[in-house]
Amino acid sequence: MSDHAFATRAIHAGQAPDPTTGSIIPPIHQASTHVQDGIGGFRDGYEYNRAGNPTRSALETQLAALEGGAHALSFASGLAAEDALLRGILKPGDHVLLGNDVYGGTYRLLTKVLAPWGIETTTVELSDADEVAAAIRPETKIVWVETPSNPLLKIVDIAALAGIAHDAGTVLVVDNTFASPALQQPLSLGADLIVHSATKYLGGHSDVLGGAVVFADDRFYDQIKFQQFAVGAVSAPLDAWLTSRGIKTLAVRVRQHSENAQAVAEWAASRPEFETVYYPGLASHPGHEIAAAQMSGFGGMLSLALSAGPDAARAFASSTSVFQLAESLGGVESLISYPSDMTHASVRGTALAVPENVVRLSVGIEDVADLIADLEQALEKITR
Ligand code: PLP
Repeated sequence: MSDHAFATRAIHAGQAPDPTTGSIIPPIHQASTHVQDGIGGFRDGYEYNRAGNPTRSALETQLAALEGGAHALSFASGLAAEDALLRGILKPGDHVLLGNDVYGGTYRLLTKVLAPWGIETTTVELSDADEVAAAIRPETKIVWVETPSNPLLKIVDIAALAGIAHDAGTVLVVDNTFASPALQQPLSLGADLIVHSATKYLGGHSDVLGGAVVFADDRFYDQIKFQQFAVGAVSAPLDAWLTSRGIKTLAVRVRQHSENAQAVAEWAASRPEFETVYYPGLASHPGHEIAAAQMSGFGGMLSLALSAGPDAARAFASSTSVFQLAESLGGVESLISYPSDMTHASVRGTALAVPENVVRLSVGIEDVADLIADLEQALEKITR
């Protein structure tokens, strides 16, 4: 499959028809264990489902093909994937360099769960090469970047950061959740590992939690797979199957998400009620040129800062109807959220705190005129 284009790989990699029945869709292997032909006589390598499940394997093949990776592992959630990656690579005394705008749960995992086990984390502006170089220490094992970032859509030059990380002997991890592999392929830009919240664009329908680690090569695979097996935060067969199904329409969905988000961003940029529109597809965005070079589209996520302040932002987030007030993102339906009290409550009071006048939109694939009309009526409601 590796010589086929992205949309073809998304549909076919790991998804061959069932060899027994010809069923066009691979079955859901809803089983906890596998019969052995004598002790240790595993059929196709399967023994017990924490160690491996055929539906999960099919998804892992599909994920590796999407990102152009050597391997992928699928987990019960994005945070489970992050946890397995971090504990698979780090040991007490190691240091992680983290971007200063990331999903609050990633920061919480590092500073609340892993810090007591001796992992140190510092946050920096990853688009500033001098700041990054100065912050890397001998103990720094991982540089961790989200681009575009959650929720302020910051853009970091992945190839440049990979160069700095590798010169310092560290590993570059890219959280590719916001862009999805349909728009950005970090391994081809020099990243070593990719993590995903598959809950978002990969699944795409807000009906499954999932996570993934994708590997550029064989390094780290055995140790992170061991974490997956020994700790057990694997994706369940039905969840793996739903994620595989979602991935098959990823290319076409993300194209529409991007087109709708661009239109919403341009509309918002024309409205005085918003003092800032955070969307890399706008020429005014500080990361626009890098995004245009390393992404094939700008994605469905954008954030808006309300000129009238935090109360107006809270009121706006509660006044839409097509955009529904909820955490999460990347589903076909549009969502609005208020990061400081919702997805990023865990970074309040830290250097990563989200401005309190910011709302975040996950622009869905509904008719874009309905989306803009919904935002317009919400503005009218709050300024009335
Ligand atoms: N990474 C990013 C960028 C996210 O937005 C999220 C969740 O919102 C995660 C990771 C964590 O994924 P999950 O919620 O599937 O555990």
